Amino acid sequence: MDKREKLASLAAQIDICKKCDLYRGATHSVPGEGNPEAKVVFIGEAPGFHEDSQGRPFVGNAGKYLDFLLSTVGLRREEVFITNVVKHRPPENRDPSPLEVAACSGWLEEQLSVISPKVVVTLGRWSLARYWRAAKISDVHGKPFRSQGLTVLPMYHPAAALRSGQTAKELEEDFLKNSNLLKEPETASGLGELGGGNEQGSLF
Ligand code: URA
Repeated sequence: MDKREKLASLAAQIDICKKCDLYRGATHSVPGEGNPEAKVVFIGEAPGFHEDSQGRPFVGNAGKYLDFLLSTVGLRREEVFITNVVKHRPPENRDPSPLEVAACSGWLEEQLSVISPKVVVTLGRWSLARYWRAAKISDVHGKPFRSQGLTVLPMYHPAAALRSGQTAKELEEDFLKNSNLLKEPETASGLGELGGGNEQGSLF
């Protein structure tokens, strides 16, 4: 199986996943989409209303803003892979529970192992916590660090930027500051493993 087929097979398994109860209230699963050969993977939190209706990640207002952010560094969503920590919509857009995140984490693990990206961009605190549990997003946003053999670039969530002009300004600056890393992620591979895993990634 090539990468596209492997991702399609994972998406089919995610679609019938009952590892937690979120599937009960969801219309569609939202496994993620994009280029199977992507060097950069964006990880959000969980599907919202529009994502749940369409079965596609980041297609509502936050998604339109993410498309804009990508365009500021010359990227299109087809070139990257976009997914979420949790693959079914939590009711009323509540935060996913730690149990739901844990139940879903294997899917993301498998997607990342198929795609094998150079850079993971975490959008918001839920995906950041996967790589650096103790980090505060307000301290580390826009500053890449190494963890689990990857370069992790923490970013504010686009939805947070839609609620705050200051956050939007910082998020847009973070994209521009990291445009080389995002456009030429191969350059990230020579940086060596500096991070300390889940608890203490290190900034460079
Ligand atoms: N917010 C997310 O975290 N993910 C989506 O797919 C859409 C909005």
